Amino acid sequence: MLSSVLQSIQEELAPYQAKLIAVSKTYPKEILLEAYEAGQREFGENRVQEVVDKAAALPEDIKWHFIGHLQTNKVKYIAPFVHLIHAVDSFKLLKEIDNRAAANNRVIDVLLQFKIAEEDTKYGYEAAEIFEMLDELPWQDLKNTRIVGVMGMATYTDDQEQVAREFRQLHTYFKRLKDTYFKYQSYFKEISMGMSGDYPLALAEGSTMVRIGSKIFGERD
Ligand SMILES: *Cc1c(COP(=O)(O)O)cnc(C)c1O
Repeated sequence: MLSSVLQSIQEELAPYQAKLIAVSKTYPKEILLEAYEAGQREFGENRVQEVVDKAAALPEDIKWHFIGHLQTNKVKYIAPFVHLIHAVDSFKLLKEIDNRAAANNRVIDVLLQFKIAEEDTKYGYEAAEIFEMLDELPWQDLKNTRIVGVMGMATYTDDQEQVAREFRQLHTYFKRLKDTYFKYQSYFKEISMGMSGDYPLALAEGSTMVRIGSKIFGERD
């Protein structure tokens, strides 16, 4: 039962005061509606067309999290309604989000995606690049975006020690950013880490939001 799975995950999150993002990518609207009726309000999607279609068809009080790689030329489609963009991985993208947010009279919250996996991954910044960007580029002039925290994905491996170490690394980056650039910005507080296979480790390392898909909705094709 979807509702009992949601409830048991919520009970696991409660002691950590972490938020559940139900990752509903590839699942049909009816299934999302079932989760909605069980009380779930935050959903994660990773394709622009899919989230646009689902947002148009589903209740308006759903908060849509965009968790995938976002192409600059597609920002305009989600800018009117997206709640949080998890995977900002270039200044160019940040600037485009700011432009499109302004055009919609909104402020859009974003997370900076760090590369934390010790394996090679395509997306996310190396930590050094993020610190360089914040030191050198005029991100503080972007009035329609708010950087509210960080996001990362651990290596897909059975090695629990490694996964824990990668999450701990993201927490360390978060603290460094907080101390250096966001000391007085109380909204800078989010660490988006943890998926179906590794969220207990992420919680133990300080996650504030977990992105869980298959554990709730079943394996995707
Ligand atoms: C698909 C996805 C998830 C959820 O993965 P599950 O293993 O199904 O929980 C979380 N984060 C991102 C970025 C994803 O693309």
